[in-house]
Amino acid sequence: MASEKHFKYVILGGGVAAGYAAREFAKQGVKPGELAIISKEAVAPYERPALSKGYLFPTNAARLPGFYVCVGSGGEKLLPEWYSEKGIELILSTEIVKADLSTKTLTSAAGANFTYEILLIATGSSVIKLTDFGTQGADSNNILYLREIDDADKLVAAIQAKKGGKAVVVGGGYIGLELSAALKINDFDVTMVFPEPWCMPRLFTADIAAFYEAYYTNKGVKILKGTLAVGFDADANGDVTAVKLKDGTVLEADIVVVGVGGRPLTTLFKGQVAEEKGGIKTDASFETSVPGVYAIGDVATFPLKMYNELRRVEHVDHSRKSAEQAVKVWLSFVIY
Ligand SMILES: Cc1cc2nc3c(=O)[nH]c(=O)nc-3n(C[C@H](O)[C@H](O)[C@H](O)COP(=O)(O)OP(=O)(O)OC[C@H]3O[C@@H](n4cnc5c(N)ncnc54)[C@H](O)[C@@H]3O)c2cc1C
Repeated sequence: MASEKHFKYVILGGGVAAGYAAREFAKQGVKPGELAIISKEAVAPYERPALSKGYLFPTNAARLPGFYVCVGSGGEKLLPEWYSEKGIELILSTEIVKADLSTKTLTSAAGANFTYEILLIATGSSVIKLTDFGTQGADSNNILYLREIDDADKLVAAIQAKKGGKAVVVGGGYIGLELSAALKINDFDVTMVFPEPWCMPRLFTADIAAFYEAYYTNKGVKILKGTLAVGFDADANGDVTAVKLKDGTVLEADIVVVGVGGRPLTTLFKGQVAEEKGGIKTDASFETSVPGVYAIGDVATFPLKMYNELRRVEHVDHSRKSAEQAVKVWLSFVIY
């Protein structure tokens, strides 16, 4: 028979929002055994932005336990022992593949069931892959993405294996910019490719982008704008050797890093909660259309007072604050 465990509170997802929510639960006096975090990742919640920065340094690279939450906002580092001391169960390496909000049951890939009274959805985003579009050769080896610590470890291994080689970075957003810089300081010959007229087009004006592009160019990063990767060549081992661009250019590559955006992980809840702008719709306290179910971090589409409209925000500070808000404002009523 499938195993079943019950918790008063479950946080689904073990990223930034989950870690900050756990700290707030502890502040609000959650009792041992009441709260569980269920995460696909094998490690306790950590500050995800470190993965594209200190984690990729050629020397003195950041490693856990150095960047567990809540160190990113100047708080105490929540080591795995912190959770056990508070009686908060960390259920790691556990992917939830089914969520039934009517019976308040989550089912893992291994068939275990978890029931709850209050659920916090903190599943974050997943990266968009070029294989999703059927781009020719996009499943070759050494075409890499970055979202979780496992991806960062693969990237570090490829950087070490191909050091001094040629790297192509696909995408001109913050991931593309940060990874181009990281590959450059790891002695790669780096080319960035993106279809827009300038980098970070959603955030930067042409002038601001020109400043950054000049800075990167001076550091030796080549920037190709207004074109995109339409295919990849690989050798007999399946390792990528070249990137084919829409304008006909072919770039040699030992390693390709793709940063073309993410999408919020809401599929488990399709048809069960109201959605808006690609995320799960919440009120100002991050409660969804289903009472007792909250959405925090990247997945939440919430009323942003400043703009007087519903917005979804992929930002680490929002993850921290939405988590604290959801626990503090509403769940504190339930705890006492
Ligand atoms: C490389 C990188 C660098 C970044 N740098 C910055 C930055 O400099 N500044 C900034 O503001 N933002 C940055 N961001 C964005 C920021 O990290 C995110 O906005 C933030 O992590 C979102 O927090 P979250 O808790 O909603 O999701 P996440 O931190 O992504 O956590 C989601 C968690 O849910 C788990 N999960 C998902 N689905 C399931 C499932 N079905 N079962 C079990 N577990 C599941 C995931 O494995 C993960 O542990 C960066 C993101 C990345 C990837």
